[in-house]
This record gives sequence, structure tokens and C-alpha cells, in this order.
Amino acid sequence: MAIGELFAFREWDDTTWSELAECKGLSAIFFPPAAERPQARERREAQAREVCHSCEVMYECRDFARRNREYGFWGGESEEERHAAGYRLIAPIGVRARVIS
Ligand code: SF4
Repeated sequence: MAIGELFAFREWDDTTWSELAECKGLSAIFFPPAAERPQARERREAQAREVCHSCEVMYECRDFARRNREYGFWGGESEEERHAAGYRLIAPIGVRARVIS
């Protein structure tokens, strides 16, 4: 499921920026598979980060993910990085296994 498709359920926030998303069709590197190992997560997130850094709506995407407590990699930021920035997930998955200071 692409990020744009996720917005079909959201009527309460502006998502027009997603039309310019560089990640269309690349969901596999933005959302973890079940039981993903830490090394695999690092590799996957490095790929996602590279895509995000070439995306012209990175900051809009990051703000959206922070405000809406999204899971996965958004706006050049992992779940852990969003958590560390003060935008806690309701039920963190990747964060739970590692300590964030
Ligand atoms: S910043 Fe990254 S996750 Fe957000 S729309 Fe762009 S490519 Fe997709």
C-alpha cells in the first residue's frame, strides 16, 4: 500500500503534498515486514532515507507523520527518530526493543 493510499481514510489533514511523493510504489522499503531483524531494518531504512532526501515534500511529509503518530519511515525519519523528537507512537514497535535517550 503506497502512502497516498493510506490517506483515503484521513479527512482531517492536508495531504496534497503526497502527490509529489518520490516513494510511490516503494512501500516495501518504508514499512517493515514482520519479524524484521535490526540489521535488515538498518539496510531498509538507509534505502528509504536516500529516497526521502531526493523528495521535494520531505518536510511536509515529516510534519504529517509527526502530527499523526505514523508508523514506518516518513519524511526522512524512522519511527525511532520521530519518537526521539518527541512524537511518541501509541504502541511503538522498533523503539520498544531499543533504548532512546
Ligand atoms: S519524504 Fe519520503 S516518505 Fe515522504 S513522501 Fe517523500 S519519499 Fe515518501
